[in-house]
Amino acid sequence: MNNPLELEQVVLSVRDILAQLLVLDADEISADSAIVEELGADSLDIVDLSFQLGRQYACSLPKTSVLDHTVAVCGDAEAFLQAGRLTDDGVELLQQSLSAYAPGQLKAGMQPADVFAATTVRNWALQCHNLFNHLPAQCPECAGEQARLNDRQQVVCVGCSARLTPLDGDSVSRALVEQFVAARVAAVA
Ligand SMILES: [Zn+2]
Repeated sequence: MNNPLELEQVVLSVRDILAQLLVLDADEISADSAIVEELGADSLDIVDLSFQLGRQYACSLPKTSVLDHTVAVCGDAEAFLQAGRLTDDGVELLQQSLSAYAPGQLKAGMQPADVFAATTVRNWALQCHNLFNHLPAQCPECAGEQARLNDRQQVVCVGCSARLTPLDGDSVSRALVEQFVAARVAAVA
C-alpha cells in the first residue's frame, strides 16, 4: 500500500512531543535541531519520544540501533565500526537507514555516541515516515490496496477506514542492513 504520510506533518509531531517532554517552546525547535546536543534530551527522553511517536502514528519504531543490527546480520560490526569509530561504509549504511541521515551529516571517525548526539528532529520524523513505506500489500480488513490520512492525520485504508500499521521497525531496520550487506558483497564479487 502507498505511504500517505507527509514528512512535514511528522516533523511537527516530533516537535510538539519534544516541546512537551523538554518543557520548551515549539518555536525553539526546528527540523534541524539536534535532539541531544542542542535540545538537551537524555536517553530517557528519547525512549519517551519513540514511544509517543509510535503511539500517535500506530507504528513500532526500532528499539535496536542500526549498528547493533549489523552485529546480528554479520556476526560483528567490523565493516561499519572499527576501534569504536564509524567507517565510510558505516556512514553510508546510516544514510540508507530509516533515519536517512543526510550527506555530510555524519563523518567517518565519529563514535556511536556522536551519531546519537547529532540526530535531528528530521531524522526522527524520517524514521517514522519511512517506516510507512512498509505497509502491508493489502488492508488486513478488506484487502483494499490504497491508504490515506484521516482528519486526525492517521494512516487508514481508503476502502474501510481501518487503521493501518506498518511492519515492525526493527524488522524493517534489520532488512535494510541485510540489503546493504548483500549489495556490498555483490559489489566486491
Ligand atoms: Zn480496508
